Amino acid sequence: MRKVTIDDLHLKGKKVLVRVDFNVPIESGKVADDTRIREALPTIRKIIADGGKAILMSHLGRPKGGFDPKYSLKPVAEHLSTLLGMSVKFAPDCVGDEVRKMVDELKEGEVLLLENVRFHPEEEKNDENFARELASLADVYVNDAFGSAHRAHASTEGVARFLKETAIGYLMQKEIEYLSKATSNLEKPYVAILGGAKVSDKIQVIKNLIDKVDAFLIGGGMANTFLKAKGYEVGKSLVEEDKIELAKEILDEAEEKKVTFLLPVDCVIANKFANDAEFEVVAVDKVKPDWMILDIGPETVKRFGEVLENAKTIVWNGPMGVFEFENFAKGTFEIAKILAEVTKKGAITIVGGGDSASAISKAGLANSVSHVSTGGGASLEFLEGKVLPGVAAIRDK
Ligand code: ADP
Ligand code: MG
Repeated sequence: MRKVTIDDLHLKGKKVLVRVDFNVPIESGKVADDTRIREALPTIRKIIADGGKAILMSHLGRPKGGFDPKYSLKPVAEHLSTLLGMSVKFAPDCVGDEVRKMVDELKEGEVLLLENVRFHPEEEKNDENFARELASLADVYVNDAFGSAHRAHASTEGVARFLKETAIGYLMQKEIEYLSKATSNLEKPYVAILGGAKVSDKIQVIKNLIDKVDAFLIGGGMANTFLKAKGYEVGKSLVEEDKIELAKEILDEAEEKKVTFLLPVDCVIANKFANDAEFEVVAVDKVKPDWMILDIGPETVKRFGEVLENAKTIVWNGPMGVFEFENFAKGTFEIAKILAEVTKKGAITIVGGGDSASAISKAGLANSVSHVSTGGGASLEFLEGKVLPGVAAIRDK
């Protein structure tokens, strides 16, 4: 690892400003899923153990400028107290005199969580003065927010310019280590499984990965746009019409470059978008005009499985179907099982994306793959070979 890590720093007595990703779902004033908070614990515990003063900052949701109790990090401070088994202080803002006073009163081994950085529009503008103000609270800056590292904001990028000592935290380190394996010195065959619903965000990724991977397995909503591009009837399935041309280009390019490109050969179709919809397994050329594709079929799982059997590196982003509905979760869960099997046999398997991560834990297999990335957009940009601004901002060793 070329970047300075938290292990390289002397933290005792220092004010350590840590960008964490506490962008968690809040329901009736309580943290509904604390995965991201738990992922940040090793870094926080390290600072406490070394006698540093931990000042944590994060964004939560997309508030429209200014304070909004809906997006307050206060419930997170309470939850973090429980997880750490100690009191966590909470600042009503992330900059200003009151916050400075709270920081100055912090003792060694104590933890202070600052209020949502996005209550200041300057955060997303990466405003220089705002970044400087954040930096002025601390001696050291640690970035442990992998999920936000693809964004150049004040708390993820700008702030690093104003502190001499910068480092990445353990979560960031873990993410980069696993994802680096997938981009450099990776063992082939390298297979990318792509699905999900954010077709326009991700279809470009396929193009950018085409010279790197040996095979693409396309399922989920992503597959429908390709099926339509090939002239199949897809009925009322989720399709991004304005990406059909790009899909055609990709299909041609894959053929020309002899990259294996598998689309579903059968699928589960439904008469409406609901778990209690009527459903049927049909070949892809038998989709009924008024129905929609909500999952990949068993023959597709089998064919994808044959490619995955021999793969040495596998990257998966985007569920194979609407896994939130029990009747359409099978394709996703079957692929998750195959990934768990090939991981046992030594393949490196990486699952990225919020919904993909939640699907793999729903399948009970989150611990059976090599790595579940906390970052969706960040992991994909990394795999494309792009430099993440939040990582670039940290000094090299
Ligand atoms: P991630 O969060 O892992 O990056 P996305 O957000 O792109 O993945 O996509 C996840 C969503 O895609 C899920 O909510 C799932 O229901 C949906 N999805 C998967 N397959 C289909 C499909 N065939 N039609 C409609 N939605 C789908
Ligand atoms: Mg998602």
